[in-house]
Amino acid sequence: TIGMIALGADGKLAGSCTTSGLAYKMHGRVGDSPIIGAGLFVDDEVGAATATGLGESIIRICGSFLIVELMRQGRTPQEACEEAVRRLIAKNKNIDDIQAGFLAINKDGEYGAYSVREGFNFARHHAESRDLIDSKFKL
Ligand code: ASP
Repeated sequence: TIGMIALGADGKLAGSCTTSGLAYKMHGRVGDSPIIGAGLFVDDEVGAATATGLGESIIRICGSFLIVELMRQGRTPQEACEEAVRRLIAKNKNIDDIQAGFLAINKDGEYGAYSVREGFNFARHHAESRDLIDSKFKL
C-alpha cells in the first residue's frame, strides 16, 4: 500500500491510498485500502491518517478513523498511531503473523507514525526539504 496524507499551504488536508492488495489473496477479497475509515480517513477539521499492512487487522479496528478520532480528542498524531497499534495488537490473536503500520498528520502539520514491527518506513516531504525517516516501531 502507498498511503499519502498532505497538509496544503492553504491549510486543507488531503489523502489518498493505493494498493495491490495481498499476495495470493482470495478472489474478491477487499482489503482496508478502498474502505474509507480503515485504510484512509481525512477530516479537514482534525487530521488525516492512512494505513498499510494486513487489511483485515486494520478493518477490525477502523484504524484510520480511530486515529483521526483520537486526534480529535486531543492526542498527538504519534500518540494516536501508537494507540491504534495497541488496539490492533489487542484485537488480533495471530499478531505474530501481522504487520500493520499507520501514518497520521493533524491540521497543525504535526505528524506521527507507528507499526506493529520493524520495516515500516515513510517519507516526509516539505516544500523546503525532503527527508526519508524511519518510523518508530516499538511500544
Ligand atoms: N493493506 C493492504 C491490504 O490488506 C496490503 C498492503 O499493505 O499492501 O489489502
